[in-house]
Amino acid sequence: MTKYVFVTGGVLSSVGKGVATASLAMLFQSMGYNTTIIKIDPYLNVDAGTMNPYAHGEVFVTEDGGETDLDIGHYERFLNRDLSKKNNITAGQIYYSVILKERKGEYLGATVQIIPHVTNEIKQRIKETGKEYSADIVFVEIGGTVGDIEGLPFLEAARQMKLEEGANNVAFIHVGLVPTLKTTGEQKTKPIQHSVQELRRIGIQPDMIVARCEKPLTEEAKAKIALFGNVPPEAVISNYDVDNIYEVPIVLMHQNAHRILAAKLLLEPREPDLTPWLNFLDKMSKASKPIRIAMIGKYTKLRDSYISIVEAIKHASAYEGVRPVFKWIESTDIENGLIDISKELENVDGAVILPGFGKRGAEGKITAIRFLRERGIPTLGICFGFQLMVVEVARHVVGLPNANSTELDSSTPYPVIDLLPSQRNVNALGGSMRLGAISIKLYKNRKVYEAYKKEVVLERHRHRYGVNVKFLDKLETAGFVVSGVSLDDESIVEFMELNSNSLFIGTQAHPEFKSRPLAPSPLYHYFISKIAVER
Ligand code: GLN
Repeated sequence: MTKYVFVTGGVLSSVGKGVATASLAMLFQSMGYNTTIIKIDPYLNVDAGTMNPYAHGEVFVTEDGGETDLDIGHYERFLNRDLSKKNNITAGQIYYSVILKERKGEYLGATVQIIPHVTNEIKQRIKETGKEYSADIVFVEIGGTVGDIEGLPFLEAARQMKLEEGANNVAFIHVGLVPTLKTTGEQKTKPIQHSVQELRRIGIQPDMIVARCEKPLTEEAKAKIALFGNVPPEAVISNYDVDNIYEVPIVLMHQNAHRILAAKLLLEPREPDLTPWLNFLDKMSKASKPIRIAMIGKYTKLRDSYISIVEAIKHASAYEGVRPVFKWIESTDIENGLIDISKELENVDGAVILPGFGKRGAEGKITAIRFLRERGIPTLGICFGFQLMVVEVARHVVGLPNANSTELDSSTPYPVIDLLPSQRNVNALGGSMRLGAISIKLYKNRKVYEAYKKEVVLERHRHRYGVNVKFLDKLETAGFVVSGVSLDDESIVEFMELNSNSLFIGTQAHPEFKSRPLAPSPLYHYFISKIAVER
């Protein structure tokens, strides 16, 4: 019998519900239960692919090419396993499929309604995904906060599932913020009391309340939340601020969150085996030597825009005994002359040219790349960052004035980056890029090969443009050489590097999506290891 755990949010969004959910699921996985996690996003977009990073942070790409919410990234990192696009259900997908079924006449004369048709579709998707993973436990995180109109059908579906699956097969966890008043230092429980009441009003009684708070809850605050939330005090868990999100499972475990949940679901209360995880945390806590990494992009005001890259650098750094200090550089500030790149990059140990789309900030990135290359500062270019490395080398080393990507200048005399042939007839923007895991053939005697130590690697993608092979000879003669191509289509360049002593590597792929605490990305690891030796 599959068990389901629904996680709802209260008071505010972005309080770390995804990390809390991932942490609990990881504890059960460490107890030997086969666990998967579904994120429900109640917005009407079919997937996160069409959204600006400022709206919801990074778009996380799954192995099977899903453009998903960034929480799927947390889930993969905590569970150390690949998930599928099916792990991210949106209201858009649900309504889309209900309407398609209605058009096909599948509802046989019925009036199609939110209840039962939409709620049935939701329940069916959740169960199907659980089945696909043969999961013992399916954690379902419902995005947004309780009380949002668009979230209601999902909460209703969850409520129905308890009735249908049985009270011991479905549990509810409510995660909400408990703010501390600056003036008095008092923890205020009223907002979370209200959000639990809102949940109970629609027929859901949480089995556990997880309070996001600055410091552990006082006994008084805990007692109040328990009383008003109608749960025993031990089922009120403090999810207090920690420096490192990977400590959250330990914080929850020390308060017996896993035991409380196991008891509710009538699961054997096994002890989690956290040995590899604790080893990683130990490495992280011992890594004290700082390294300064410049992060050059145009969505730097919202750090979540590049969360997988930040995490990949943290994973690699832990293994190298160094502590990354990020220096965020807004590329539009470079091109607008608001910052002096030579000052900004003066003391950095390495730089990442971040992915992106469109013109804004691109010239700023190119200016930064030139500075980094000329000074031999270790530089990694990811996707758009890589494409701009190609543009920079073409302009300043090969000597092709105004060389560019056709994404940025359709009439450039030297289109060194151009639309992929497979993209030429694509019109719709949703889900139509070159997406997901694609095999890459690596060339021996290259740095990238030294990083992966494998001839074929699988990395994830999300792009429409690529290196224009017509210019490859010139780029290679200038010392910027190909180190890997797509296995199935050798005309698609996947990795390039400068064949000099300095590290200057770009990739069309997104290796950060596959980096995990227990399995750091080989490319990021290589990059950080070279910086660590130099420090
Ligand atoms: N805009 C570029 C492309 O579509 C790069 C995309 C990215 O950085 N993910 O090819």
